[in-house]
Amino acid sequence: MQSAEGMKVRIAGSTLELVIGDIALQKMDVVVNAANNQLAGGGGVDGAIHRGGGPAIMEETRQKYPRGCPTGEAVISGAGQLAARYVVHTVGPVWGGGQGREEEQLASAYRRSLEVVIENGCSSAAFPSLSTGAYRYPFDLAARCALSTVMAFLKETGKPEWVRFVLFDESAYSAFSVALTDLLSDEIG
Ligand code: ADP
Repeated sequence: MQSAEGMKVRIAGSTLELVIGDIALQKMDVVVNAANNQLAGGGGVDGAIHRGGGPAIMEETRQKYPRGCPTGEAVISGAGQLAARYVVHTVGPVWGGGQGREEEQLASAYRRSLEVVIENGCSSAAFPSLSTGAYRYPFDLAARCALSTVMAFLKETGKPEWVRFVLFDESAYSAFSVALTDLLSDEIG
């Protein structure tokens, strides 16, 4: 299950995979962007996607979504020069201590992104760890929410065929692999 290439499990006929890497370099139908409400571009994932994809992505989102994207929602654009076909831009919550709607909003960002992926006929999608950078969501909590939301979606819909989490470093990968192992053992136990 675990190897140098990452960790791969089958969930209801789909593949769920964890790897260490750069989201902008993924050759999947969709790469998901950790965007902000204004779809204004920024650092982290957003910076990597717009740098790699070129200006066409922002031109398209400005035109199609002039009011931006609410937290927990997702919108789609082309992927410019990236290897992916589309970019799904979603907005996770800013961590405020966990007393607000952060968990619900983070789950919604993953779920709405997956809905947009399948509505557009795509069968593979790569996600970064939403909200764990500039938005400061604690990694262990974010990993559990991300994985349980995606696993539930795959079980409900049987789609998409392939979901890959692209974690930026060893510690992010480790938080996700621990959370995935826990969630799988909860299912068995
Ligand atoms: P947010 O504003 O939602 O917190 P960030 O882009 O600041 O989004 O960070 C989200 C997570 O993505 C962080 O854990 C960060 O380390 C990671 N990250 C940053 N750049 C990349 C990249 N190029 N590919 C994959 N993950 C990245």
